Amino acid sequence: MANTVPVIDHPQVLAPLLIKAKELPINIQFFSAITNNLAGSKVVDFASFGDNVIGFSDDGVYLANQTLLITALKYGQTNNKLIALHVDNRHQLGTATTILRDAAAIRFNLTGVNENYEAKPLAQDLTIVNQLQLPYHLCHLSTAKGVALIRKGKIINPFLTCEVTPHHLTLSIDDIQANDGNYLMNLPLNLKTDQISLIAALNDGTIDIIATDHAPHQSKEKGSFATSAMGIIGLQLTFPLLYTKLVQTKQVALATIINALTINPQKLIHHHDVRLKVANEANFTVIDLNLTQPVTRKLLQSKAANTPFLGTKLTGWPIINVHNGVIHYLHQEGT
Ligand SMILES: [Zn+2]
Repeated sequence: MANTVPVIDHPQVLAPLLIKAKELPINIQFFSAITNNLAGSKVVDFASFGDNVIGFSDDGVYLANQTLLITALKYGQTNNKLIALHVDNRHQLGTATTILRDAAAIRFNLTGVNENYEAKPLAQDLTIVNQLQLPYHLCHLSTAKGVALIRKGKIINPFLTCEVTPHHLTLSIDDIQANDGNYLMNLPLNLKTDQISLIAALNDGTIDIIATDHAPHQSKEKGSFATSAMGIIGLQLTFPLLYTKLVQTKQVALATIINALTINPQKLIHHHDVRLKVANEANFTVIDLNLTQPVTRKLLQSKAANTPFLGTKLTGWPIINVHNGVIHYLHQEGT
């Protein structure tokens, strides 16, 4: 995503990252910002990025200007680029508001947000986007009201797609035990009923893909709700979390999870066929569905440890990772 420092809004910012990515034992694809410096006032030179980006996103910031939104969506439609939207009404809130669902915020004497934090701007976008049948992709859907809007929207707009994070599928505000910034993310955790609705939407195809919204922060950036940076790490825990909390509990089929993490995103970004077959590059992960271990700081490969799942016992861990025919990760017993 483009919300880095500096913002990826020009091919010159992207160029050194492309070189770095090529050296890594993993396939990395990039997004450019939709607007310069994510400021929402002027679109980037879309064509200047050519095939070096798979799409455009002002992730982290709502693009309130509908003229610019439509310009971006039309470019995406013509050029097969995913235009991914982050939707919230933070720009309309007072500075005293914490991005924490109201029913949880009240427990910590904070002013929180309700379901309209997502639903209001989403409904505004969909009114125009669905009428024009433009390919709009929503990042991290988080509420039952949002699910209802997407489900209804898909009936008239076949190009409407969306994603959900592992943490919105596996946590609700009922899981918040303390005033701990590791439960603070944007979009926020919601009610148990919202979580149930997201799981149902994954099962019936309303939700197309699962994506992490991986957001590493140093421990000094976290702390309590009122002062914490937003977001949690997600990449390494994605599969074991989904397997343990959704498949083992028989709420979601294993095939649904695998498709939402692999084939469905591949289609969405118009990526070449990555399936295991003759003449394709060997890029795959082997998962041990019987391996159970707790999430510890030592286990985390990230430089950051901002996750509410530290200490949680999870099952279904990757044990072998192969990139372009070379084994880059091999699980050792006891590590
Ligand atoms: Zn976002």
